[in-house]
Amino acid sequence: MIEVRDLTHRYVTEGRGETLALSDVNLTIGNNEFITLLGPSGCGKTTLMRAIGGLENPTEGTVEVNGSRVKGPNLDCSVVFQNFALLPWATILDNTAFGLEMRGRSKREAREIAREFIAKVGLTGFEDKYPKELSGGMQQRVGLARALAVDTPVILMDEPFGALDQQTRRYMQEELLKIWENDKKTVVFVTHDMEEAVLLADRVVLMSARPGRVEEVIPVDIPRP
Ligand code: ADP
Ligand code: ADP
Repeated sequence: MIEVRDLTHRYVTEGRGETLALSDVNLTIGNNEFITLLGPSGCGKTTLMRAIGGLENPTEGTVEVNGSRVKGPNLDCSVVFQNFALLPWATILDNTAFGLEMRGRSKREAREIAREFIAKVGLTGFEDKYPKELSGGMQQRVGLARALAVDTPVILMDEPFGALDQQTRRYMQEELLKIWENDKKTVVFVTHDMEEAVLLADRVVLMSARPGRVEEVIPVDIPRP
């Protein structure tokens, strides 16, 4: 379970004052729930996701994941970054294996699991390429494979399908839903695409810009594809 309590975050930029990114956000996310954070650009979706993952230290308020207060990068969470965040000097295989090695797997074991997830995102044959040799969409799929391979209870995703063409996006949405259902994950998925938010979620968390508030939490009753 993820408990977000009275979360406020201000970014302080030297010489340009403060930006209020989150304002008094409260949210409870159940285990195995699929939540989408929906709202216009700049409404605080990424900041909220990063605070849950312990990548942003909020100005006020608390986040708890499975009963522990989040204070720094949180090993219960894996993150798919909007800009992919791949290591440019490492191959696709090593980029995907990276998180597994960080969590104590041997190199051989990490690579074996990495190959399996590279296949799931449709990139078999690209293991020995480097990120710059792949298209944006393909790099995004590597970021997904890396995050899914570590098998954490919580997956945080920041517009993970934004760089994909429509057909690949559909395919990846279905793959993600399969993994979510089979492996009992909790997913927090950031998007500004209303159709995608409704298609994937158990509940849509609707955020508004000015000043970074949760407006409404909307349960979705329509069955998934
Ligand atoms: P979203 O993900 O919904 O686009 P963000 O969480 O990225 O929203 O941003 C919320 C607000 O905080 C925006 O006004 C944005 O410009 C500002 N912001 C985000 N990151 C930073 C940063 N590192 N420094 C200063 N302001 C930031
Ligand atoms: P994506 O579908 O991942 O968004 P593109 O639309 O750019 O990527 O590429 C469409 C297809 O072209 C890919 O799925 C892949 O089969 C092939 N392709 C793209 N870039 C490369 C590359 N650098 N090397 C080999 N094949 C590539």
